[in-house]
Amino acid sequence: MTKIAAAQIKRPSVVPEGFFGSNERFKVYTERHIDQIPQIQNLPQEQRFAMRVVANVLPFRVNQYVIEELIDWSSIPQDPLFQLTFPQPGMLTPEQFERMADLLRKGADRTVIRETASAIRDELNPHPAGQRELNVPTVGDEKVEGIQHKYRETVLFFPSQGQTCHSYCTFCFRWAQFIGDKELRFGTNEASQLHRYLGEHTEVTDLLITGGDPMVMKTRHFKAYLEPLLEPAFDHVTNIRIGTKALSFWPQRFVTDDDAEELLDLIKKAVEAGKQVAFMAHFNHWREMETEICHEAIRRIRATGAIIRSQSPLIRHINDDADVWARMWRTQTRLGVYPYYMFVERDTGAKHYFELPLTRAWEIYRDAMKQVSGLARTARGPSMSAGPGKIEVQGVAEAAGEKVFVLRFIQGRNPDWVQRPFFARFDPEATWLHQLEPAFGDEKFFFQDEYDTMCLEAMSD
Ligand SMILES: *Cc1c(COP(=O)(O)O)cnc(C)c1O
Repeated sequence: MTKIAAAQIKRPSVVPEGFFGSNERFKVYTERHIDQIPQIQNLPQEQRFAMRVVANVLPFRVNQYVIEELIDWSSIPQDPLFQLTFPQPGMLTPEQFERMADLLRKGADRTVIRETASAIRDELNPHPAGQRELNVPTVGDEKVEGIQHKYRETVLFFPSQGQTCHSYCTFCFRWAQFIGDKELRFGTNEASQLHRYLGEHTEVTDLLITGGDPMVMKTRHFKAYLEPLLEPAFDHVTNIRIGTKALSFWPQRFVTDDDAEELLDLIKKAVEAGKQVAFMAHFNHWREMETEICHEAIRRIRATGAIIRSQSPLIRHINDDADVWARMWRTQTRLGVYPYYMFVERDTGAKHYFELPLTRAWEIYRDAMKQVSGLARTARGPSMSAGPGKIEVQGVAEAAGEKVFVLRFIQGRNPDWVQRPFFARFDPEATWLHQLEPAFGDEKFFFQDEYDTMCLEAMSD
């Protein structure tokens, strides 16, 4: 794709037929090919080495579109899109970094490198929030690997063909599944298990197809999962969500890919069958929404009758700035994308590099909210997706002479926990739920005993 003049970018308009050409080739680089990226070849040797050190431990994958259209190479390493996709030395602790760097300098054996990488990964809490133990449902007596069912209304499905992404985000909380260790991977190719599970669970109104990125899947695979759900047996599943970062990393998926039209037709068919189809678009920065092809992809998705909502974590080095969020939400609102969630960076992977104190997260949320119109104030957050549920930091307040965090469940493992305000002692450094203590001298949070029981029951299954 050619660069488009800034003046043209401003106004999302209907693009003439043939403007984007057809079938731009998807070209991707991984850890082994990092030195072949032309923009990387210009960097000092030391900086390239540091990238290789980190990429030997944490997943790395970036495509040509991100390299050429999104990253501003004149302002690396600070550039947020560079931080979003390329390994940064600070993502490992100095000790971890040195452990791996030493092996690479010595030209150590592949097996030794792999063992060390694996040991470092184990130090990075690869499976946060009890995901593997607590949310895996059963069909008959069988555990279904590709499904998670945590909140009553919503089932998460991880189609096996959708367990990679067009590029990887450096902060990804599902990073462990991209390592190639089959054991760490969710995913199933059993469409029938999904359909059977949904058929048996009429309390489920929402199916969230996620990954990885389900939009890496060919349309014909996607169809095999989606089309049967349009039958009357699944009338209770009224909402189908598709979690994706393709609008950012590969908008060609909806515009020029060979099966783009077929995909849009399928979405349209689901809409016409009475489903709410919602693309849960992962955007971290307004810069991802500046290209003409992104606008065109948004326009085409909306033309099917599907809606687009957006969500993102708040991440240091990438979007830890209220003005960035305000501009992102304004841009989205103009383009017809509804801001949905602002997440707190999870307690996994390179969290020490990306995380922010909860109090700072709340300030950024508030300062961004203040700047935008009501239409753009639809994002809830900052929200921690923790074991017991999605917990929102509503603010910092003073009550009974104590400085406290005011918290609430947006989603709870028990639906009855939702929307009850509760309080934690203010802690200026806390970045995650497990660091918070109940306020007012209480021994436990109101949900603690019940949650502990749920954990014990899941362990004994
Ligand atoms: C966020 C989330 C959902 C969806 O929750 P909503 O509040 O309906 O958006 C479902 N399952 C899991 C595990 C989640 O983390």
